[in-house]
Amino acid sequence: MSFESLGLQPALLRALAEQGYTDPTPIQVAAIPQVLDGHDLMAGAQTGTGKTAAFALPLLQMLDSAAHGPAHNPRALILTPTRELAAQVHDNIRAYGKHLRVRSGAIFGGVGMGGQVQFLRRGPDLVVATPGRLIDHLQRRNVDLSGVRWLVLDEADRMLDMGFLPALKQILAVLPKQRQTLLFSATFAPEIKQLATNFMRSPREVQMATPNAVASGVSHRVHPVDAARKRDLLLHVLAADSRRQTLVFARTKHGSDKLCRHLEQHGFRAAAIHGNKSQNQRTRALADFKRGGTTILVATDIAARGLDIDQLPAVVNYDLPMVAQDYVHRIGRTGRAGAEGLALSLVSREEEGLLRDIQKLLKQPLAVESVEGFEPAWTLRPEHANAPSSQPGQRRGKSRARKPNRRDDARPASAQRKASHGHAHPQHSRTQNDAARANRSRRNRNGRNRAAPR
Ligand code: AMP
Repeated sequence: MSFESLGLQPALLRALAEQGYTDPTPIQVAAIPQVLDGHDLMAGAQTGTGKTAAFALPLLQMLDSAAHGPAHNPRALILTPTRELAAQVHDNIRAYGKHLRVRSGAIFGGVGMGGQVQFLRRGPDLVVATPGRLIDHLQRRNVDLSGVRWLVLDEADRMLDMGFLPALKQILAVLPKQRQTLLFSATFAPEIKQLATNFMRSPREVQMATPNAVASGVSHRVHPVDAARKRDLLLHVLAADSRRQTLVFARTKHGSDKLCRHLEQHGFRAAAIHGNKSQNQRTRALADFKRGGTTILVATDIAARGLDIDQLPAVVNYDLPMVAQDYVHRIGRTGRAGAEGLALSLVSREEEGLLRDIQKLLKQPLAVESVEGFEPAWTLRPEHANAPSSQPGQRRGKSRARKPNRRDDARPASAQRKASHGHAHPQHSRTQNDAARANRSRRNRNGRNRAAPR
């Protein structure tokens, strides 16, 4: 399948060739013709699938072929949950549309209003915006959205997670009813479906990855550790390969700053990115990391949403996410496009329940390896009870006999390797069934360990 056969015009094909894209990704194959045909679309696709081009290319084509008037109001609006994503989407739009005359810009918080007001006055064709800042402009009458013919909700699930539903409704209320709406979301929670029912017209649906799936090239590893020793263990694992670009996830803004300082004090080139940083600081930190100027980027979940970082070799969960689904989003940044990736989680006793939720979601146990010198005083019990040990049609327990490969993580605890720099915890000699039994009875005693909402 070629881009040409999807019905894209030569100016776009040229830009794609300049980007080095040879073939469309599956989401692009599925979405582009539907969008060009004028259908509303609900697409299940995560960052890393090429979803941005899946909506940006047909949108640019339709904007370019519709009449160019004099200064006018925006005809296309793309809403994204974060500033970084808005900037990234707009960068892509500029790259794909470089041979077209489509006027576009991005509008987000954290930077002054002045430049954005000027840009809006010039009459852009396409605006990429975060909901909060767009509402500010709407309230100040800096922008008139009555001419919007195309609307894209990018990472709609994230927007709802971040509490943007009221803002979305406010924006949707001022858009014309006659429009084409495209909704992209990693998951289709009931609230997303509700949004689609209320604001879309018989949308076509395309679903790319199985929800909750992670790239198959990713090795997951869990290092149990006492909470008080996490920082030292992090230094130890980072030092093992100090040139490796690593994205480290911490739970809080304050925690990421502290961790970043600690890493810097120990000679690592690190930067932190979170909601309290100014837009300029965030953009600079991301650019430095992408360039390789810094090797460690410490981020909170919200700040890291949708970051497009190619070929990231490792993600470290310094803190486990409070919501299991976020593990999938975090890990989505490594092992892309067939590359190998490492997902390392430093798990304290207090996080055992969160780890259990993650394994349940992934339907696979994660390899547990304690690191020599950092063995905790307690025993981490991997939850295997809810994880099938084999694919449908395979014999249960077959994975035990498999040849070692990069999916080692799916092996039962008893078969897990020792860490190259440590010894398997004595707990690991228990069989999978032992662990499952123990966990089942513990769950029955304690009830389900619920993740706290963010
Ligand atoms: P996205 O899922 O939109 O965040 O895209 C993920 C990455 O894939 C971005 O770096 C894009 O530039 C890149 N990309 C998108 N489409 C293609 C394609 N057809 N071929 C190669 N790379 C692509």
